[in-house]
Amino acid sequence: METKKITKVVIAGGGTAGWITAALLNKVLGKVIDITLVESAEIGTVGVGEASIPPILHLNGALGISEKEFIKATGATIKLGIEFENWRSQGHSYMHAFGEIGKDFPFCEFYHFWLKANQANNAPDFWDFSLNYQAAKAHKFAHLKHIPNTQLAGLHYAYHFDATRYGEFLKELAQSRGVKRIEGKIESVNQCHESGYIRSLLLKNGEQIDGDLFIDCTGLRALLIEQTLNTGFEDWSHWLPCDSAIAVQSESAFDA
Ligand SMILES: Cc1cc2nc3c(=O)[nH]c(=O)nc-3n(C[C@H](O)[C@H](O)[C@H](O)COP(=O)(O)OP(=O)(O)OC[C@H]3O[C@@H](n4cnc5c(N)ncnc54)[C@H](O)[C@@H]3O)c2cc1C
Repeated sequence: METKKITKVVIAGGGTAGWITAALLNKVLGKVIDITLVESAEIGTVGVGEASIPPILHLNGALGISEKEFIKATGATIKLGIEFENWRSQGHSYMHAFGEIGKDFPFCEFYHFWLKANQANNAPDFWDFSLNYQAAKAHKFAHLKHIPNTQLAGLHYAYHFDATRYGEFLKELAQSRGVKRIEGKIESVNQCHESGYIRSLLLKNGEQIDGDLFIDCTGLRALLIEQTLNTGFEDWSHWLPCDSAIAVQSESAFDA
């Protein structure tokens, strides 16, 4: 087994996955490893969404990105949950509100109490206990970690933002901190004859990029993990009632 020290990391692909990987690796190991990212304008990125969930705040925090600069760079709006309109039937909607619902007791979560009350026809609406739900419906938001003078949690939130602008923002950030970017289409992948490990990437213009560790961020192409290493793909399509997505622009639901 090879035990060579990793000093050069190569990231294949510059979508959101690639630039998040580059920025985070640089933040944690930037002083001891050399990071190169290869991306191809010819191929481009998916670049849709991004509806995010609360852990994105931790990602931005870890990268030292302030909320103000993130919102400015990506056109983000605050997001308290995800509403699925016409969910069970026309007119029905379901909101996956972020954050806590009610107050959990040790060893017994709140929803058990609510279910018991509901069985006795004695329960208020479940969503009366979700601050996120109520704030979203009232179009209200505040930075609120706890509700003052209570033990109740405050608002949890994420953002809805322009994924392409976030990718561009992370690209600039990572490059300003030392990540090297190479523009080019990867045409083939060189592997060690004995171990099968990836040794280098060969670009369309003939350039060869060597590395000790390669990270595949080529999206659905899975150029390294699948096309080269054939690690296998677990097909879940039989579990999924929806097998396609359409990205469209729509007018804002609210007045600016
Ligand atoms: C309609 C739709 C809606 C979505 N909505 C959401 C959402 O709301 N929230 C959410 O979190 N996610 C959403 N997603 C998923 C999300 O957009 C994708 O998972 C994510 O953008 C994929 O990013 P990626 O970096 O993995 O891949 P990509 O964006 O595909 O990037 C791949 C990169 O690899 C490069 N590359 C590929 N092959 C080569 C090659 N041979 N040589 C050089 N470079 C190469 C490309 O140039 C590109 O830079 C949605 C997806 C779709 C389709």
